[in-house]
Amino acid sequence: MPSKKNNEAWRRDMERRYYLEIIDLVKAFPSALPVLTVSQWAEEHRILSPAVTPMPGPFRWEVAPYMREIADCFSESSPVQKVAVIKGAQVAFTTAVLENVIGYIIAAAPGPAMFISSDKGVAEASVELRIDAMIESAGLGDRIFAQVEKAHNKKTGDTKARKDFAGGFLMALGPRVGAKLRSFPIRYLLCDELDAWPEQIGSTSNDAKTASEGDPLVLAEKRTVAFERIRKILYGSTPLIRHSSRILELFEYGDQRYFYVPCRHCLRMQILRWKDKDGTLRIKYEEKDGKLDLESVHYICENPECGKPWKNSDKAWFLPRGEWRPTSENGEANFRSYHISSLYSPIGMRSWEDICLEWLHVKDEPLKLKAFINTVLGEPWEEKGETPKTEKVMAQIEAGEYHIDKETGEVLALPPTANPLLVSVGADVQADRIEVEIVAWGIGFESWSLGYLSLPGPTDDINSLPWKALQAALMERHADLQTDFALVDCGYNTDVVYDFCASLSNVLPVKGDPGLQEDKSSKSKVLRLSDVRERGIQRADINVDYFKGEIYGHIRKGTESGQTPIEPFPGFCHFPAEYTRRYANMLTAERRVLQPAGRTGRAKMVWKQQGRNEALDCRVYALAALYVMFRYKADEQEAWYREKGIKEFPHYTWADFWDFIIAAKKAPIDLS
Ligand SMILES: [Zn+2]
Repeated sequence: MPSKKNNEAWRRDMERRYYLEIIDLVKAFPSALPVLTVSQWAEEHRILSPAVTPMPGPFRWEVAPYMREIADCFSESSPVQKVAVIKGAQVAFTTAVLENVIGYIIAAAPGPAMFISSDKGVAEASVELRIDAMIESAGLGDRIFAQVEKAHNKKTGDTKARKDFAGGFLMALGPRVGAKLRSFPIRYLLCDELDAWPEQIGSTSNDAKTASEGDPLVLAEKRTVAFERIRKILYGSTPLIRHSSRILELFEYGDQRYFYVPCRHCLRMQILRWKDKDGTLRIKYEEKDGKLDLESVHYICENPECGKPWKNSDKAWFLPRGEWRPTSENGEANFRSYHISSLYSPIGMRSWEDICLEWLHVKDEPLKLKAFINTVLGEPWEEKGETPKTEKVMAQIEAGEYHIDKETGEVLALPPTANPLLVSVGADVQADRIEVEIVAWGIGFESWSLGYLSLPGPTDDINSLPWKALQAALMERHADLQTDFALVDCGYNTDVVYDFCASLSNVLPVKGDPGLQEDKSSKSKVLRLSDVRERGIQRADINVDYFKGEIYGHIRKGTESGQTPIEPFPGFCHFPAEYTRRYANMLTAERRVLQPAGRTGRAKMVWKQQGRNEALDCRVYALAALYVMFRYKADEQEAWYREKGIKEFPHYTWADFWDFIIAAKKAPIDLS
């Protein structure tokens, strides 16, 4: 290993050689340096092909004026070194920032550059479909060296994975190639779709043969150390899930710029927001005969003394008059961060009308709603302060007619206003007991806890007391309702759990699988049904973090008055009067905490358990049981269409599921 001192000398040598190369380049291409900024270069040289944009022709910043400042951070004249962009879909980021910056690097500020997207295929497709077109139309074709065959048949020069040009090169890759991420120094690091990158590469739970190579972003960032003083790093992504979002963490580390635009009536500068803190939508719309009235869609000025409507077409007026304003101190000099949602999408791209249509389609479906929040609003799923306070649970513990039997720990009757449709059970297996929650569910995941039981005794023998008691709890009626589906944790005493589940219908073993989020072969990032072949049963593998987020979202729900809702209230959690603070503490035992960076890693948000959390685990399994039921119905519908030879069919939605359950409530439910 070279010593630290040697490293330093090597780095200085690299920088010196780099400057010499620049000087050579200036001599070779005298026209290369008069271009001062990325935005000037783009205006002078870029022509957009109709193949890549709905607005072909010469590139104009007026279309998406907010992208100009971001792109100009990559100008040689800018001191900015790191830029994080948290973005919604269709905000012209790829065209206006990524492609312009790459064009500028090739044309005016060459150096070794690396473009990394969510995977290799995506990165190479970007080069083939967009960057090649940009190079061609901007007249940069003659700067790219032709393909050359080198030793070992490796092609270099001009391929979809690599462009060589005077003074530098551009490599396009995915985050999983550890060796390439550590092989050579780079000046420019352009990272896209960061939230879809794996946390670690080189090792998964299934393949322990290779040791973990670490966080791919850390590996890539290390490549820029040789150019420490002149490097430029772009971090771009649509955010995914709050607690694991890289881009959110980077955004919060930067100076958190938002794009302020003026109202054309009162001139008040404001950020375009989807909704206010109190939940009121800023975009208003009306529905006619169950359909969106497109004419009615408008944005309301946030100035209460104005409150005038803006139309989507007003973007042509207010976007060019907007400006970026930082809202925080940055954690590091020359680190800027930007937030831009699809509400700013240029005219001709995603309109407010499109967004309202999508909203109506997704608003009652958690999974689609997540995609809407991520891609349209550019916000991570799960709101701030994710773990509800214990007090919030205490407030949902109801006085009045909803009680448990002190002897059995179970609810005898629900309040008359309750309208339960299904009952599921979640069981958490410990060495010396099984903890169980029985939950009744209403439309849209409104829930009533029907009992929380602790069944003591050894769990390593299927004939022991806790298993007998669990079986009884599954067979008995609770508040006069029968159990529809149950999941039993198989992380502990797995064989016994399998035996137990194999002996009952509508009971599956459940296992948390942290890798599910990244499993490309899986239909869903939330739930996978695996076959346990030797037992002839299925097992539910679940993304536990997702369910915790969902449950905490439910618990946070409340009525405006703070009173228990008596009408159907999607997501609201009802608890019986006897539930204690100890229960509430268990349910809210996990906190999202910042895990400090190790010597090589980065700080990140992780779930951390504080005290006992079995109540949360049981609720996770009970909720996941509904998802299993949903999956069965969705697969059944798909099979039906396929049998009829119908290839294009509507996706099965939660609305369909609840409709089915309501209809089936009149007749016994058949889930088999
Ligand atoms: Zn106004």
